[in-house]
Amino acid sequence: MNAPLNVSGLARIGHFIGGRLLSEEGAPTQPVFNPALGEVIAEVALGDAEVVARAVASAKAAFPAWADTSPLKRARVMFKFKELLDANHDLLAKAITLEHGKVASDAHGEVTRGIEVVEFACGIPHLLRGDFTEQISGGIDAFSMRQPLGVCAGITPFNFPAMVPMWMFPMAIACGNSFILKPSERDPSASLVMAELLKRAGLPDGVFNVVQGGRTAVEALIEHPDVAALSFVGSTPIAESIYQRGAARGKRVQALGGAKNHLVVMPDANLNQAVDALIGAAYGSAGERCMAISVAVAVGSSADRLVEALVPRVLALRIADGQDASAEMGPVVTAEHKAKIIDYIDDGVKSGAKLLVDGRNHVVKGRERGFFLGGSLFDHVTPAMRIYREEIFGPVLVVVRVPDFKSAVELVNAHEFGNGVSLFTSDGGTAREFARRIQVGMVGINVPIPVPMAFHSFGGWKRSLFGDQHAYGMEGVRFYTRYKAVMQRWSDSIGKGPEFIMPTAN
Ligand code: NAD
Repeated sequence: MNAPLNVSGLARIGHFIGGRLLSEEGAPTQPVFNPALGEVIAEVALGDAEVVARAVASAKAAFPAWADTSPLKRARVMFKFKELLDANHDLLAKAITLEHGKVASDAHGEVTRGIEVVEFACGIPHLLRGDFTEQISGGIDAFSMRQPLGVCAGITPFNFPAMVPMWMFPMAIACGNSFILKPSERDPSASLVMAELLKRAGLPDGVFNVVQGGRTAVEALIEHPDVAALSFVGSTPIAESIYQRGAARGKRVQALGGAKNHLVVMPDANLNQAVDALIGAAYGSAGERCMAISVAVAVGSSADRLVEALVPRVLALRIADGQDASAEMGPVVTAEHKAKIIDYIDDGVKSGAKLLVDGRNHVVKGRERGFFLGGSLFDHVTPAMRIYREEIFGPVLVVVRVPDFKSAVELVNAHEFGNGVSLFTSDGGTAREFARRIQVGMVGINVPIPVPMAFHSFGGWKRSLFGDQHAYGMEGVRFYTRYKAVMQRWSDSIGKGPEFIMPTAN
């Protein structure tokens, strides 16, 4: 095993193109913070159209040989990559906590969920098998195959700097494509750890590249004619724009957007379970998850009991530097994001919602400059309020009271987002009805965060996903390949003269 990687020592975080780290001295950069300390710990390069063009050229040059490599050999690289991820699990999790702020156990969980997609991609020889029909017509056999697209690009959000890229590139690469990752500029180090591990796993140079940066780099990827497909995960306005612009340029696009996930508590729910679920799903990762629960829908008589049980639990959250093993919740990602969340809480108070727990002025001893917030809890929130309609992406849970199950379903279905939803009940009939009627892509029944495992697929409905394929699983295989149908004849019937009718079976 080679020497362990050391990302925390990197003062300048560069691109990774053609199997080499490029620091691009003198090019523009942006600071990267440790949010628990509120201090700059590195500078990240900001790629432009020229850097993107180099990455695309490198990926394009690497594509033909990689596409010709047998699926079994591609799978062997994935097996090796998985082994290296296991061996470097701590390092990757540490890089995530340092730049994102999430607690160490959660960062480990993120890495595990990413590794699961790599494990799924190891099965690519099986997953790419086509269909075959013998004698589809006289002397003719037919078969189908799925072939890679070419250069694929992935643009990813700050909140899962390892897992979300691993929703994309293991599938794309295993399918025979080359890939360019444009990670979030707020926590870019994980991308370079993964690039280095892929190289050590034996992936040929140029098959996986990283371009650091923000909007300028994304614009260049959208415009580049040699980028065949774009996978995006981030906020809804950007997802929608990338989907529209990419599609207008003939690219295949999947663009996953924002969320406002509801957890419906029926009067017959196990209250302790529902409260545990809400506390973990609303405040875990400081609410910075696209599958975070941000709305508790209290049905009928459950409301008072639920709110009464939630208040002391929100007040008791252990908030600390994510590297502190006892922490349940770390800081939010930047000072700007903290200010935006506080604006939302101010707005909720102004609009008449009842702020039961106010996390705006929470200070963590010894980390006074860190971007910390306490948990906040609102009651008597209505659908007209901004704190209900918009994604806050912070540790803020709002309670909406509704009279019955039907109103709960109508409320969820009327929301513009449809990423995840959860129902807590002890009645099977209610659960079945909910799963059938609800207009949301991922549904949990007594499960607060129903993120599908790697061998299923991840994606929301409505304005939470633009495009028709979800991420990873078989949807991922379909997204990163094109279907081809072949008919072949090796018989004497060739040469019997032209036929002018539409071919039919004989
Ligand atoms: P973001 O939309 O600000 O950024 C996402 C990516 O887009 C980053 O790589 C960023 O550099 C790039 N970007 C930023 N501004 C851009 C612009 N104007 N044009 C082109 N590209 C631009 O999102 P974020 O703050 O990093 O992440 C949080 C958001 O991501 C939330 O809305 C969350 O719900 C969403 N998210 C969704 C899912 C999902 O699966 N649906 C998963 C994780 C996060």
